Amino acid sequence: MGKTAVFLCHCGDNIAATVDIEKLKKEFSKDKNLVVKNHMFLCSEAGQQMILDTLDKNKDVDRLVIASCSPKHHWNIFKDCVKQKLNAYMFEMANIREHCSWVHSDREEATKKAYSIIKGAINKVQHHEPIGTVDVPVKRDVLVIGAGIAGMHASLELADKGFHVYLVEKEASIGGNMTKLGRTFPTDDCSMCTVSPIMNEVKAHPNIELLTLSEVVGLSGRVGDYNVTVETKPRYVDLDRCTACGLCTEKCPVSIPNNYNLGLDKTKAIHIPFDGSVPNAAFIEEEACLKINKGVCGICEKVCPADAVDFNQKKERRELKVGAIVVATGYQQTDLSNTEYYYEHPDVITGLELERMIVPSGPTGGKVVCPSDGREPKTITFIQCAGSRDKRHKEYCSNICCMYSIKNAKIMRAKFPDATINMCYIDIRAPGRRNEEYYALAREKNINMIMGRPSQIMDAPDGRLFFDVFDKATNKFMRVESDLIVLATALEPSEGTKRMAKVLHLQYGMDKFLSPLHVKIAPVDTTTEGIYIVGTAEGPKSIQDCIT
Ligand code: SF4
Ligand code: SF4
Ligand code: SF4
Repeated sequence: MGKTAVFLCHCGDNIAATVDIEKLKKEFSKDKNLVVKNHMFLCSEAGQQMILDTLDKNKDVDRLVIASCSPKHHWNIFKDCVKQKLNAYMFEMANIREHCSWVHSDREEATKKAYSIIKGAINKVQHHEPIGTVDVPVKRDVLVIGAGIAGMHASLELADKGFHVYLVEKEASIGGNMTKLGRTFPTDDCSMCTVSPIMNEVKAHPNIELLTLSEVVGLSGRVGDYNVTVETKPRYVDLDRCTACGLCTEKCPVSIPNNYNLGLDKTKAIHIPFDGSVPNAAFIEEEACLKINKGVCGICEKVCPADAVDFNQKKERRELKVGAIVVATGYQQTDLSNTEYYYEHPDVITGLELERMIVPSGPTGGKVVCPSDGREPKTITFIQCAGSRDKRHKEYCSNICCMYSIKNAKIMRAKFPDATINMCYIDIRAPGRRNEEYYALAREKNINMIMGRPSQIMDAPDGRLFFDVFDKATNKFMRVESDLIVLATALEPSEGTKRMAKVLHLQYGMDKFLSPLHVKIAPVDTTTEGIYIVGTAEGPKSIQDCIT
């Protein structure tokens, strides 16, 4: 066996500020079987050249240790470098950055630990043997989980490049949360007008196979060769026959809360998910249907002119073979019931509920009303950071709620020129192109900005709502009375995102959002090769950030 070369990286001061590189060099140089070198940035061109020069000058070196950062970052760079002189696998990386300098502050102790890590790598590399590579065919099909804006966009990008995409969506229609919004900042475009063509493009794309009412329930295999089990719930309506005439919904005797409209109105046990849904077809909510649960009724089956209702449909499982997986399972609003934020009163609503009221096809036909009695609100108050930036609930900033509340306040001003509009905030966060300008424009719309966290919301004697707040901008206590209170509710990963973390064995943070391999340089990769995250499954973000 030949000698071992040990290369110590300073990584600027990322490693060298905490680990005494010169001391390590001196220590390891005592061993005559080691050739020891150090460099400011080993991964740089100059650093790699130093490795090659060292191997040229020391022909008796047949393996090496690179003491630097995580192999997750630069293993491929060093492998390509090593293979110019030796077998590509005759090296070992010792992670003295993430595993040492970044997590310690005591220089002496960190240097001792770095010594042990490197010593371990030196011992390990003695067992390396030259190995070759084999070519393994990879599946060219891709699975995208979640058909909101991020999942649809990813599917189209892949499909346009010639990959066959399975797009799995747990709801009866694709489109996700964006279909529920009225307008989108900072352009005030109609949300449905923006997302609807994308939904139709997805449906029409020859390389995309849509699987609605479906969920991923199992995974095995590895990058390039994954086996995925997908479970599809019965729709009880034949997609090829249904013409979306709506007759079944009209005649169905069972009324249920309309989940799509967040319970603000009712629908029937059989219904089309929403105007413009894709696929545009009815489906039956199993739990509500009399025929499925009690063996009676069957009216929809009798009245359907297309003979589309099919109670013989069963839950199905399907095995898909794919080379890569994209997780786009999105976010949901945090349930704040039974917290100090969500006073149980119909006139305390969330931002998303307001969006549904703003939409002309929504539960109120585009009229914004107080849900308690249908009256027009004279005073509307937005409460920001409801559950966000709060150690008792979510510590993080939900990122988009300042902007969507500003947008909704503007819309309220346009709808109600004489109304009082308040916004209680901690501070307004409007980063990103055109957002600050958008906020500045909104400030000209006579919106009372109150800088403070409100007290508990309570009933006012006149049937309205009130809370107290200390306005830091004016140094005054205020009592704010309102007809309608709109909460900028904290966002959290959707149930689907949490489930996928388990099924696909993905890492997630304390906040339960999925963790990328590296927040800066590998923001869509995960620690599992071939599985990627896009959109809000990784953290709250705007529509534009979901697709760029
Ligand atoms: S299931 Fe039949 S009745 Fe219902 S929307 Fe479809 S075609 Fe019309
Ligand atoms: S069979 Fe079920 S879905 Fe059909 S009309 Fe009756 S209750 Fe409604
Ligand atoms: S975006 Fe604004 S409202 Fe939302 S949590 Fe952050 S600071 Fe609060």
